[in-house]
Amino acid sequence: MAFKNLSIIDPILKALEAEGYSSPTPIQSQAIPLVLERKDVLGCAQTGTGKTAAFAIPILQILYTAKRAVQGIKVLILTPTRELAIQIDESFASYGRYTGISHTVIFGGVSQLHQTNKLKNGVDVLIATPGRLLDLMGQGFINLKHLEIFVLDEADRMLDMGFIHDVKKVILKLPANRQTLFFSATMPPEIQKLADALLSNPAQVAV
Ligand code: AMP
Repeated sequence: MAFKNLSIIDPILKALEAEGYSSPTPIQSQAIPLVLERKDVLGCAQTGTGKTAAFAIPILQILYTAKRAVQGIKVLILTPTRELAIQIDESFASYGRYTGISHTVIFGGVSQLHQTNKLKNGVDVLIATPGRLLDLMGQGFINLKHLEIFVLDEADRMLDMGFIHDVKKVILKLPANRQTLFFSATMPPEIQKLADALLSNPAQVAV
């Protein structure tokens, strides 16, 4: 199996080659076609399985193949920690280097000025931790009116770290008509309930 067989477009294939990825991991070969079909996905996968590329590659492809006339955030990725947020942003930089898709990352514990300046320039993909996202939304720096895809990463860790209430607040602000990708290493009852509420007719992938 090769990325080419998953119908990945040349600008992304070129970047994956430069990254030294010769073939998709199991979560990638399962999830990529489903995301490209614009299905909601419930993914049970831990960090280390290649989960980030499983959503980043098809998201980049969707944005690249149908260039939008409207300016605005098209994709929101919520993740629990600053470290994960930075890693996801770096993945978009790497896999998307030949696509021209813009992305930025926001997280708490640092000055917001650099982050709000980037937001003012306009981005296609926003990667965020929940607290800073709510903070900047409250200040009017973030408009999610044009959102098409929402990714909830490490949902069970959001619960463990006490962020689930913030996550639910964010979800209330998202357009109802969107594609949702939900990733969690484990599925405790509260997370299952959230997945049921968030996803519509989801395809399930597990590794
Ligand atoms: P993740 O589970 O997203 O944290 O990814 C774990 C690690 O696997 C990261 O360092 C990625 O760069 C790497 N990785 C992801 N997909 C592939 C692939 N198809 N081939 C080789 N390495 C990969």
